[in-house]
Amino acid sequence: ESLRRIDEVEKDVQAFLLIDSDRALSRAKKIDNDIVNSEEIGILAGLPVGIKDNIITEGVRTTCGSKILENYNPIYSATVYKRILAGQSIMIGKTNMDEFAMGSSTEHSAYHPTFNPWNLNYVPGGSSGGSAAAVAAGEVYYALGSDTGGSIRQPAAYTGVVGLKPTYGLVSRFGLVAFASSLDQIGPITKNVEDAAYVLQTIAGHDEYDSTSANVPIPDYISGLTREIKGLRIGVPKEYMGEGIDHGVKEKIQDAIEVLSGLGAIIEEVSLPHTEYAVATYYIIAPSEASSNLARYDGVRYGIRADSAENLIDMYKKTRSEGLGSEVKRRIMLGTYALSSGYYDDYYLKAQKVRTLIKQDFEKVFDKFDLILGPTVPTTAFKIDENINDPLTMYLNDILTIPVNLAGLPAISIPAGLVNGLPVGLQLIGKHFAEATILRAAYAFE
Ligand code: GLN
Repeated sequence: ESLRRIDEVEKDVQAFLLIDSDRALSRAKKIDNDIVNSEEIGILAGLPVGIKDNIITEGVRTTCGSKILENYNPIYSATVYKRILAGQSIMIGKTNMDEFAMGSSTEHSAYHPTFNPWNLNYVPGGSSGGSAAAVAAGEVYYALGSDTGGSIRQPAAYTGVVGLKPTYGLVSRFGLVAFASSLDQIGPITKNVEDAAYVLQTIAGHDEYDSTSANVPIPDYISGLTREIKGLRIGVPKEYMGEGIDHGVKEKIQDAIEVLSGLGAIIEEVSLPHTEYAVATYYIIAPSEASSNLARYDGVRYGIRADSAENLIDMYKKTRSEGLGSEVKRRIMLGTYALSSGYYDDYYLKAQKVRTLIKQDFEKVFDKFDLILGPTVPTTAFKIDENINDPLTMYLNDILTIPVNLAGLPAISIPAGLVNGLPVGLQLIGKHFAEATILRAAYAFE
């Protein structure tokens, strides 16, 4: 059914970088046999999944949306991939993304853009735009994405599906190609909240191969979906509902507030005063980490190597000039500058201090509240090509998702209605490791 749907819509949506139908069909047969011959059925048994192309899949080309990894065939698998295979899921293919997850529209893929299934003139968001579009278009039952500054939640919002960014450390990053290691998290993109709970149940939990993986007990997310939110205290930051937020988006969030208070939640206005510094802070920290993480693409260890180089330095230069796209180069230059001696204290160190202030904003609110609620993005999806030559406007799009990564918190985006035929995302942010509370409230709203 999944492959049939892909036949129908993929030419328009272009959510995938690779579709491996032979592998999927033979795996489906194998799972059928395994199920017949055993008592145990995996909790994702038989479910077709799309995997963002920065998650390493053994023997299946993994490009990160970049030319520099055009020919990269991993010799091992990411922990999350192993876990969903153990849950008996079936990978249909690898989904499109902004190169190295840098972007908010999937237009920075080195291969092709992905189109929003709701209206093909619009972007699906990014950087996990392929994963979100594939789920929204019904090509797969769920997908995995990664979120460094909003890349799961923003495309989920733009395509009317559910996207969950777990607490930093809840899901193993082993085998996730690093963009900004202190911010990156893998999470599910699904059609509804219940599915998100099933996928999170499968992928969450300690992994000895990731030194930042938290060793915490994993609750039963699925049986926690009770719809009981009476007395739950929810704060709505005034900075998330003020200037710069689309009128139509605000209205849908107001409607959601009414629904949730009708269900017994106690909702009050709160403040996250350092929100306005989040984008600037992120665009020092994320590019700094990226400049270091991407140094490995040197033409020696992975991917393509430029020919006709005269010496080693020339080979590095040519390989990186030809292999990396303009947005990635912009980030590498920004990050290298911010980390250079003489500027480190002024930029990187200062950004780390502001990051702490942003984290403390959240801690203060969470002293009194269980959840924070607001829009996922200030607007609905923008048009293809609208922001491609305007990096600053593109960066500002992430103002409401970035603070969550800087603080390492979990957050979900769930559909909250349509404005002019395009989906609006409602964001619920929780305390560290409070995914169960987030899922319960999201399920009640849905
Ligand atoms: N859009 C943000 C960026 O370009 C976030 C990307 C992400 O979460 N991977 O960096």
